[in-house]
Amino acid sequence: MQLTRRAALAAGALTLAGCSTEAQLTASPSPSPSAAPSASHLPSEVVHGPRDRAQVALTFHGQGDDRLVRTTLTVLAQSAAPVTVLAVGSWLEQSPALARAILDGGHELGNHTYSHADISSLDAAGQYAEISRCAAVLRRLTGSAGRWFRPSQAPRATAAVQKQAQRAGYPTCLAYDVDSLDYTDPGPAAIVANVLNGVHNGSIVSLHLGHPGTVEALPELVAALRRRGLTPVTATTLLS
Ligand SMILES: [Zn+2]
Repeated sequence: MQLTRRAALAAGALTLAGCSTEAQLTASPSPSPSAAPSASHLPSEVVHGPRDRAQVALTFHGQGDDRLVRTTLTVLAQSAAPVTVLAVGSWLEQSPALARAILDGGHELGNHTYSHADISSLDAAGQYAEISRCAAVLRRLTGSAGRWFRPSQAPRATAAVQKQAQRAGYPTCLAYDVDSLDYTDPGPAAIVANVLNGVHNGSIVSLHLGHPGTVEALPELVAALRRRGLTPVTATTLLS
């Protein structure tokens, strides 16, 4: 069972769109799996979870208007759907109460860099600064830097970014295999359709806080996933 899951996790498919970016992706080799004890069964980047369990992780770019974010949390509570929010550090620093509100809602917080710069274009020191500065904000506000790092303006972490993430305390970068394209504001029906067209057991879905259409889409999105027998869980639950 463990071997099967490990193989499934390591064999993640490539995605073609980024987090609020039009960056094109070409296949890039993944570095060796991390040997970090806290995530020893996971590779240095995960694109999806096990395909043999009917769970999916809704994961959010964490930055947006405070009231819209609080509305999102209310909608998620009504849908009883735990999610993973990858927070932009500068945003969380300006809205510190939301860190606790997200965790109190049963959700999970992770790291999405400090300023959402194009992290792939930075040198190693710049990449490390972006990751570690967000980690410091998370630690200060919640007592934990969180388990996951997601690169900014890139659907996948380069080998160099993975290395700096590991240095900053994140053995596994969190990519995704389903892009809702919600950041293009296509309307709630299209967001739901984009997810349903690509979602499977173990999928990690990319969504964004701060977009009204995403909030509108969430009740139907969660209901539609459940009709397919798919249960929304945090990334940590999906990958544990
Ligand atoms: Zn983002």
